[in-house]
Parts: sequence; C-alpha cells; structure tokens
Amino acid sequence: MALREDQILRYSRQILLREVGGRGQESLLAGTARLDGIGASGLTAAAYLAGGGTPVTGAGSLTLGPWAPGFLMGPSDVGLPVTEALAREVPALNPDAGAVGQGGGLVAELPAAWSGEAPWVALGGDGMRAAVVFRGPEGCLWCFGETVRHLGSPPDGALGVAVGTLGALVFQRLRLGLGPALGGRWLVAPGTVEEMEMRRCSRCAGREPPAES
Ligand SMILES: [Zn+2]
Repeated sequence: MALREDQILRYSRQILLREVGGRGQESLLAGTARLDGIGASGLTAAAYLAGGGTPVTGAGSLTLGPWAPGFLMGPSDVGLPVTEALAREVPALNPDAGAVGQGGGLVAELPAAWSGEAPWVALGGDGMRAAVVFRGPEGCLWCFGETVRHLGSPPDGALGVAVGTLGALVFQRLRLGLGPALGGRWLVAPGTVEEMEMRRCSRCAGREPPAES
C-alpha cells in the first residue's frame, strides 16, 4: 500500500523518524488492532494508535462508564458498548484508522483473554505501579501468559493515561518489527520506567533467557 499525499503530510513527523519511515508508516496503517478495555489506559492507547494511523476496533462487549471521556471518547459515548463507541470515534479522530481487514494485534487491560495475532500488549498493574507486558510474533506466549497472570488491572487517572501511552508506543514498535520480542516495563509515578523481570514458562525455565532483544 503506497501512502497518499495527504497521509505523507499527516504522518510527516513519524515518517521523518529513522525507525518509522514511509515503509514503517505503511505497516502502522495496515491491519486492525483490537482493544479489550474501557479504562483510562486502554482508551488512551487506542487514541494514540488511531492518531498514528493504526485502525482500532473494540473486542468484548463492555460498556463505557462515566470515566470514559478523555482523549478519544466524548460524554455522548458513555453507556455505549466499547465496540460501537470506537467505530464512531476512531474514524472521527483519524479517517485512516477506521477498522479494516483482519486483526493485527491485541491491546488489553488485565485481566484479559489472549488470542490471535501478535503484537500483544497487556496493560496492568500491581496496586502501586502500572505495567506494560508485550510480545511480538517471536516472543514466547507461555512466558507472556505466566507474567500477566500475576498482574492486576491497570490504574486509573494520570498513571493509567501514561501507561496507555507507553503501551501504544510499544505496540507501534512491535508492528515496525523492532525488538525486543518479549518483555515488560513498570511505570512508577510520576513517570519513571523500569525494566520488569519476566516470569518463565516451564518450557523456557532452565534454558536460555526468553528472547529479550
Ligand atoms: Zn516461555
């Protein structure tokens, strides 16, 4: 898919980044990211992904609550199923990002069910810190599952917004084929990012570390 002139203008800041470029922008525009979440972190991630050109569609049947209005949702979206609200608001934010084609990744607030194509990006927390856990197509899905199983739901408020932004960035990096293929980060208020030690599945335990870079 070649970029149109209006797309080159819209994404010029990203295209100018060496890690994105015209080819990279085409991969950000291709395939639809599924969003499973209705909190600050999930909706923020959806807004950033859509702004960057990635189509976003809702997964699951949850309904937006009174906290939803923010970057992406307005007051009139409260009470709508997330799928319906995203179908309305995503193309309004960026006409390129209306859902198209088959799934191309999943962003979900924990706890969540994981299936389908990578990248997978989990937004969670441990009560004190926010967490992002991610895997690309090469990352071990059992190690991913073992790690997210020990995390709770992501925080609301500013830390939730921040972890949603980080989650969108991680998702875009994986779409661009940038490593690492498996990993996690803690986000500590007011905005410090720390490396997370991944748990190992029984197949990877005792062998070389899971693909970290
Ligand atoms: Zn593993």
